[in-house]
Amino acid sequence: MTGEELAAAGFELGPKIYARLSRFVELLLLENQRVNLTAIRDVDEVWRLHICESLALLALISESRPRRLLDLGTGGGIPGIPLACVRDNLEVVLLDATRKKLDAVGRIVAELGLSGVQTLWGRAEALAHDEAYRETFDVVTARAVAALPTLIEYAAGFVRPGGQCWFAKSIDAAEREIEDARSAASQCALQYVKTHRFTLPGHHGERAIVIYMKRSRLRTDLPRSQGRPRRRPL
Ligand code: SAH
Repeated sequence: MTGEELAAAGFELGPKIYARLSRFVELLLLENQRVNLTAIRDVDEVWRLHICESLALLALISESRPRRLLDLGTGGGIPGIPLACVRDNLEVVLLDATRKKLDAVGRIVAELGLSGVQTLWGRAEALAHDEAYRETFDVVTARAVAALPTLIEYAAGFVRPGGQCWFAKSIDAAEREIEDARSAASQCALQYVKTHRFTLPGHHGERAIVIYMKRSRLRTDLPRSQGRPRRRPL
């Protein structure tokens, strides 16, 4: 996508940020030759699907002005890295359980010179009990990581009371999973706020960000141990 096409999609970001995002797309596809970071191989498709979906979160950032953001299950750095490319005063932690992916992401971050970004290797279920991370984030983002009942338990330990979770979903999955996740949300002190809908360019159609707000501190026995949130959702 050119800068003009990006502006037409609703993102007028200026040449410096555009250059940074272009470099990210290049580095992502380069690392992808060695480590499986994305199934998408086409540059324009990376822009339309990965970059534009990440940038859709900028509207929410402008509303709630977070300082510290966790991207849970970041994979190739999505949406965390594009957000950090635009907001360089945002502190971003990129978490993933797969070492090889995080190493690749670490190289990309270094190459881009993003000083506010840190990578964090491990399972969400374990790291959410680590004091350095527990309830320290203003926002937790996640895309293509798990169904909402599971994702809620992964994320709730990281977000501070009053903070938010922003989960990227298809429209169908959002509608279905919000219902399925009622019990998990209430047990994890998360309150459903709203679904932010937006349209991706290039016939990719409508997508959703499901927004939850953390009402209070999380019970200390949550999240449960590794694998349980997925095998036996709350
Ligand atoms: N967010 C990226 C990657 C999605 S793939 C994107 O949108 O392209 C999902 C990623 O979540 C994988 O890299 C996987 O390692 C990670 N993941 C899944 N469950 C996890 C858990 N419990 N803790 C940490 N990472 C997890």
